[in-house]
Amino acid sequence: MSDASDIPDYLVVGGGSAGCVVAARLSEDPSIRVTLLEAGPEDRDIWIHVPAGYARLFASGRYDWKFATEPEPELADRAIAWPRGRVLGGSGSVNGLVYLRGSPQDYDRWAQAGARGWSYEDVLPAFRRMEDWDGPAGDTRGVGGPLPVGQVSRLSQGAAAFVASCQALGFPLHRDINDGPIEGVTPIQMNIRRGRRVSTARAYLRPARRRPNLRVLTGVRAQRVLIEDGRAVGVLARRDGAGGEERFLARREVVLCAGAVASPKILMLSGVGDGEDLSALGIPVTAHLPGVGRNLQDHLIARLSFRTKPAGTLNEIMASRFQLTRTVLGYAVRRNGPLAVGATEATLFARVTPGAEEAEAQFQFINFSLSAGSYVLPPHPGVMINFGQCRPDSRGVLRLRSPEPEDKPVIHANYLEAPGDQRVMVEAARLGRRIGRASPFAELVQEETAPPRGDDSDEALLEYVRRTGSTVYHPCGTCRMGTDAGAVVDPELRVAGLRGLRVADASVMPLVPSSNIQPAVIMIAERAAEFLRRDAATA
Ligand SMILES: Cc1cc2nc3c(=O)[nH]c(=O)nc-3n(C[C@H](O)[C@H](O)[C@H](O)COP(=O)(O)OP(=O)(O)OC[C@H]3O[C@@H](n4cnc5c(N)ncnc54)[C@H](O)[C@@H]3O)c2cc1C
Repeated sequence: MSDASDIPDYLVVGGGSAGCVVAARLSEDPSIRVTLLEAGPEDRDIWIHVPAGYARLFASGRYDWKFATEPEPELADRAIAWPRGRVLGGSGSVNGLVYLRGSPQDYDRWAQAGARGWSYEDVLPAFRRMEDWDGPAGDTRGVGGPLPVGQVSRLSQGAAAFVASCQALGFPLHRDINDGPIEGVTPIQMNIRRGRRVSTARAYLRPARRRPNLRVLTGVRAQRVLIEDGRAVGVLARRDGAGGEERFLARREVVLCAGAVASPKILMLSGVGDGEDLSALGIPVTAHLPGVGRNLQDHLIARLSFRTKPAGTLNEIMASRFQLTRTVLGYAVRRNGPLAVGATEATLFARVTPGAEEAEAQFQFINFSLSAGSYVLPPHPGVMINFGQCRPDSRGVLRLRSPEPEDKPVIHANYLEAPGDQRVMVEAARLGRRIGRASPFAELVQEETAPPRGDDSDEALLEYVRRTGSTVYHPCGTCRMGTDAGAVVDPELRVAGLRGLRVADASVMPLVPSSNIQPAVIMIAERAAEFLRRDAATA
């Protein structure tokens, strides 16, 4: 329970990719008091910080909310696992470390969709402010910001072959993929410093924790927002190991940064959502906002797997005690080698359908292969080319399962619902196969294991995607920003029709960016802090 002297100006709910940024940036002003509530624990586990540790984190599930979709009608009725980070740093503590801003047009489309003030030109200063880029300087990149960004300097044999094969097929090699249009191939840029993952918990929050005006509480699960006379005054929460519910109050505002699943869920539990749905669950309606939980978007991916000649793949390293010991020692001493990179080493953005005006599909080279339908590495050398659509038209929806805060929500991603999305995935599979069959990649390949070489018809490729496709972990859009009646937050991230309540995380995106989305999330959080500080200064 907060006593009056304890009440901060801002309560930030969720210490993930966005929440750590909002809390740290707000607390730069010593006159502003901030409390950050995070449901998960501190990010002390060593495997969070070793870049390749994601594989271990995945296997243990220790820091995972373990969400899943309902059976997906267009994916052979399979329920798709949706991991989300449940630890300080959030999904950014368990993610693949890929740093791609997306295409400039992504943000121009946001502005056209009603997110006034979020065009590429508008968001560029925030992208620059957050970065400490160690590559070629330019007007579009930032240096000296909290977040290190560097490009993989030494590619594995397979990744180098992937890049060369893409070039052989006519795709240009980027000098810096984050400085403009994304079409082309590139070694990946990542958030790593001295061989360690740098999440926003490390880049932003850690240095800020010395400040007396910032309080960080872990193990605290917000359940709903307390709203009095149309104004958010705090949240009701449960603390790990404690009995009942606690009230945490805020003098000025509550900022939801609980992510694309939990932020709409907390809103709905607070009576903010589709009035009819809420009433059916017996939840009193505070604000009828039918957009909450709708407009759900995600990137679907499927994998092309190859058995290869020996090429220093992770499969070979894991299968040999000698190689594993050498790799671990090499990492311990020099902080480099295969443990110092995330899963993706190189990526290609390409058009795949006739008449397309910009890149429609992303391909990721992965220096290991997995046994079908599992996260098990078979002992023979292997690599994968993952492919997915940049901007799907299919839209999903997220609803409460019950009025009980501990229940997981009902998620329908509706992957491949739009026929155009099926078309792009089929053509992307086809281009992935062409890359795998082009020289020099083809010289590494011993066998196309999945899908097996043979039937390349539309039907066979679509069937393969339906049976094996999965998320690449980019759910967003469930509290869409805009100015129309269906929007949940306005372009300054204020929840429509209420005072003292904002959402700042992946859920406010009107449209999923073309690439991996964490940089866009961090940019949103930077801007949220900017709006809040400006409003505090002028209040
Ligand atoms: C396995 C995986 C791999 C990924 N790989 C990449 C990648 O390589 N590159 C990339 O750009 N993106 C990647 N992503 C996506 C990216 O990490 C996410 O989009 C981004 O981290 C989302 O940020 P967020 O702040 O919206 O949510 P999150 O980072 O998920 O933060 C939400 C936080 O809120 C907390 N929380 C939730 N509910 C409550 C509650 N009731 N009370 C208090 N706290 C709560 C959570 O524990 C969490 O810490 C990946 C994601 C995953 C899961």
